[in-house]
Amino acid sequence: MTIPFVDLKTQYKNLKVSIDTAIGNVIEETAFIGGKYIIEFEEKFARKYGVKHFVSTANGTDSLYIIMKSLGIGPGDEVITVANSWISTSETITQCGAKPVFVDIDPDYYTIDETRIEEKITSRTKAIIPVHLYGQMCEIEKIKSIADKYNLHVIEDCAQSHFSKYKNKKAGTFGIAGSFSFYPGKNLGAYGDAGGLITDDDELALKCKMFARHGALVKHKHKMEGINSRLDGLQAAILSVKLDHIEEWTAKRIENAACYSQIFQNNDHVITPLVRDNSVHSFHLYVIRVKKRNDLQNYLSKKGIETAIHYPSPLPFLEAYSYLQHKRKDFPVSYHYKEQILSLPLYPELKYDQISYIAESILSFYK
Ligand SMILES: *Cc1c(COP(=O)(O)O)cnc(C)c1O
Repeated sequence: MTIPFVDLKTQYKNLKVSIDTAIGNVIEETAFIGGKYIIEFEEKFARKYGVKHFVSTANGTDSLYIIMKSLGIGPGDEVITVANSWISTSETITQCGAKPVFVDIDPDYYTIDETRIEEKITSRTKAIIPVHLYGQMCEIEKIKSIADKYNLHVIEDCAQSHFSKYKNKKAGTFGIAGSFSFYPGKNLGAYGDAGGLITDDDELALKCKMFARHGALVKHKHKMEGINSRLDGLQAAILSVKLDHIEEWTAKRIENAACYSQIFQNNDHVITPLVRDNSVHSFHLYVIRVKKRNDLQNYLSKKGIETAIHYPSPLPFLEAYSYLQHKRKDFPVSYHYKEQILSLPLYPELKYDQISYIAESILSFYK
């Protein structure tokens, strides 16, 4: 058996007729940039997510940058974020001219350790960017109350947490804005780069939209300089088709994650992911912790099972941040876990026999 880490082919086969029709329509109508497919997806996403505004962007990195620029974050400011994430979360802080300030992860839930945020706040701090990593909700209410106490913005990085929930409220709806990626492998994925942001703040929505469209809401009326960050028509049409299936896919992800955890229960070798109380974990990734991780990964690879590591290095220890001169002891949990974490294949289309083959293979490695 060979099991890829991500399998987008099966999903395409299941939706082939509607996807091909959607792509064909965009080409027939040459609706490549702007126009009805963009508006349709923006409205559909906002309605389904239950928010006032959804602004589409070219990708989920831009959407973070656009939110921060529109909130006026710039040189001299500091933005607090988490030590374990994809570099988009922190590089966009730097792009704004601000300084990324990292906080270690929680040892049980792998998201930002909310108990260590307050000690990092200074007079220059402007915002906190929690990341609902792997689909797991952060302790978002506590983070929000810390932010409120110091008058800081909360910008949620929801690139891995479409439709995750905390107390029945969706990821991205706690802070001033939420940023989404529709990179192909994300829970809602386009067939190329795509992203967007949500907010209930009318003024912020307008600023973000203007900044993402060269500073002009009306063609040639540039009120300021901006950037070019557009979702294109083909991606919008594809995403509109896929959006109808997201709830069913999320349910399948959760079901598949439960299958893994069931097989791994009562064994001493595999630490399975916990789900925070009162929350829905959308399982973008199913990440276990094990000893001899690299040997296990090789062993699985020989058995045709593809796995991945998210992430091999916490952000503060990347060469890109060597100038910050962080030490291991600054982020002990992230540092320690980077040798243990392993992401297993997890997608809605994964079959029970595949899950059991993967899980049994892992258990056989430790026998
Ligand atoms: C994927 C991802 C992004 C960036 O999204 P792109 O669309 O690839 O630019 C940002 N943050 C996190 C946590 C991500 O996983």
